Amino acid sequence: MEENLAFGVQRRAMVEQQLRRRGIRDERVLEAMLQVPRHEFVPSKYRSFAYDDRPLAIGESETISQPYMVAAMTQAAGIAPGDLALEVGTGSGYQAAILAELGARVVTIERNASLAESARNRLERLGISRVQVVIGDGSLGYPPSAPYAAILVTAACPGLPTPLLEQLGEDGRLVIPVGNRYQQILRLIFKHQGQFARRDLDACQFVPLIGQQAWPEKSPPD
Ligand code: SAH
Repeated sequence: MEENLAFGVQRRAMVEQQLRRRGIRDERVLEAMLQVPRHEFVPSKYRSFAYDDRPLAIGESETISQPYMVAAMTQAAGIAPGDLALEVGTGSGYQAAILAELGARVVTIERNASLAESARNRLERLGISRVQVVIGDGSLGYPPSAPYAAILVTAACPGLPTPLLEQLGEDGRLVIPVGNRYQQILRLIFKHQGQFARRDLDACQFVPLIGQQAWPEKSPPD
């Protein structure tokens, strides 16, 4: 009880100091970040750091993104209630939970089966429905549920995977970090009448997307 109270206070501070102050303006996104208990998505030994301004290790050499990055990606994706969203890179399930909190129906795909399984159990335990966790190579998207109103890729990509562009619906938004393994730019792609427009957002650093339309499992550093 007391613990949860403290987390609630930390969460509000996170929203005000890390998100609003740094330019996240969408009130619905701020509210979703205020509602979802981020501390439930980090390993128990890191719980006290859950609301810090940084990514955290979640095991399997992967990370849960920094709160600001989750908010920036979510805001860019322009989620409306009822939208079908695809997330590539489930990790802890936190980004998927934020999308669900905004009223999206979410398909999230993760290549690491053990992370996918933990995320699925966690989301179920927290009563977060509307999220389907799929195991597979998300660089190919997830054709069975396409088209998507929004696609968020939460791992770094060397380019724009063609299957993701193809699986965007009309007026769909793709939010994706594009660059090399060490540094990327967060890119927003709009699809309108079969044409793509792009806008570059923040510089960022994500773990690599490993897959057929991304980096091979073992590759020399670039
Ligand atoms: N969105 C997550 C953090 C993602 S970390 C969260 O909210 O916690 C990036 C994740 O992408 C890692 O879990 C990694 O295993 C996964 N990943 C890497 N390549 C992938 C691929 N081709 N398909 C699906 N998931 C992939």
